[in-house]
Amino acid sequence: MSAVITEQSQSDTTPVPEGATGIREGAFGHATGLSCRECGHGVELGPFYACPECFGPLEIAYDFPAITREEIEAGPANIWRYKALLPVPTDIEQSPNMEPGFTRLLKAHNLGRELGIDNLWVKDDSTNPTNSFKDRVVACALSAATEFGSKVFACPSTGNLANAVAAAGARAGIKTVVFIPSNLETPKQVNSAVFTESLVAVNGNYDDVNKLASEIAGEEEGWAFVNVNVRPYYAEGSKTLGYEIAEQLGWRLPDQVVIPVASGSQLTKVHKAFQELVKLGLVEDKPYKVFGAQAGGCSPVSAAYKAGVDAIRPVKPDTIAKSLAIGNPADGIYVLDICRETGGAVEDITDDEVREGIVLLARTEGIFTETAGGTTVGVLKKLVETGQLDTTLETVVINTGHGLKTLDAVSGIVGPTATIEPSYAAFVAAGIA
Ligand SMILES: *Cc1c(COP(=O)(O)O)cnc(C)c1O
Ligand SMILES: [Zn+2]
Repeated sequence: MSAVITEQSQSDTTPVPEGATGIREGAFGHATGLSCRECGHGVELGPFYACPECFGPLEIAYDFPAITREEIEAGPANIWRYKALLPVPTDIEQSPNMEPGFTRLLKAHNLGRELGIDNLWVKDDSTNPTNSFKDRVVACALSAATEFGSKVFACPSTGNLANAVAAAGARAGIKTVVFIPSNLETPKQVNSAVFTESLVAVNGNYDDVNKLASEIAGEEEGWAFVNVNVRPYYAEGSKTLGYEIAEQLGWRLPDQVVIPVASGSQLTKVHKAFQELVKLGLVEDKPYKVFGAQAGGCSPVSAAYKAGVDAIRPVKPDTIAKSLAIGNPADGIYVLDICRETGGAVEDITDDEVREGIVLLARTEGIFTETAGGTTVGVLKKLVETGQLDTTLETVVINTGHGLKTLDAVSGIVGPTATIEPSYAAFVAAGIA
């Protein structure tokens, strides 16, 4: 893997794993340890995220049990139906949690017709408890933080993560402190502030907030930053999106999937989930293509894809898709690998196309998405127009968030068609009927 400057390698506060102590038996289910994604070095389960040998990202290693479709189907209608495949205890449902997941997979007849795609589905994650896919990852991070005896549940966030952390912490009765860029949309600020007494707005962009969080994580004892020092556990939560898509399609993989990219974690984990299902014999092996979606104002991964290079050059984000505005994506290089290896692509669109994507999904399917979903739908359209996506193949597009959190993005392009006096004559004169 080519060298890339990640948040981890820049930090001088990376905790060096010393071997975890005091972890109760079964606290992480069938997880057996942590393993370096770059060099394969193994580390004991603990609040560690960077390889002590090469500073590469640590991932969860498992010894999966034999599991059947029927056993999964008999589970609860949330992500815990897949608990055997996650780093969580077998009695995870007993702890107070948000019970995210098992969101609807909708056949998108109208959007498919509009774009000329024969067989299109929308995986609608806007219906999660705090209205984004982040509830999935936070549920797994919270379980890990609890097992590590963390006193504070925290995160640097582009918005949705702070909402999910603040809500999950409130329900679990653990103190939360969430950090956001101070220019964040008001609805996303309020959606955190209602749940927590500690919403910290930082004068800087997400990458500045993330760097600050790494510093605090290195200094403060007992703070679990969901996407920093418990990131390996957090990231596994995104696998449930992949499991659900396969199960809801009737235990098979789609041919093509389009996924938004911020840090790139979600995309890599959906791919990992598909691979695991194949290995476990739960779905048939078959080729599928993974596509990544970015907004042009923050498209470091798309730029590297198009330039045909392996290294991600960090950018300074400038886009209305704030939930995707990570200029230095930790998993960007893995996104490149996956999209290239599977025959997919990474594409980006302008902010105006993001807005059009939001309205297109709303008017065709009755789903109000936020700017991240506008980006994904807009990229789907562009992939069709540029011939990069095969319109004859079964395709799933993931909607990761809710439009009510980013109203300002479209309030300038939709609104009252007419303002009239309360009389029938005025109605007729307005030409609506
Ligand atoms: C965080 C987020 C993403 C991207 O997630 P990564 O795993 O960091 O790539 C996509 N959509 C929404 C709505 C998000 O909040
Ligand atoms: Zn390593």
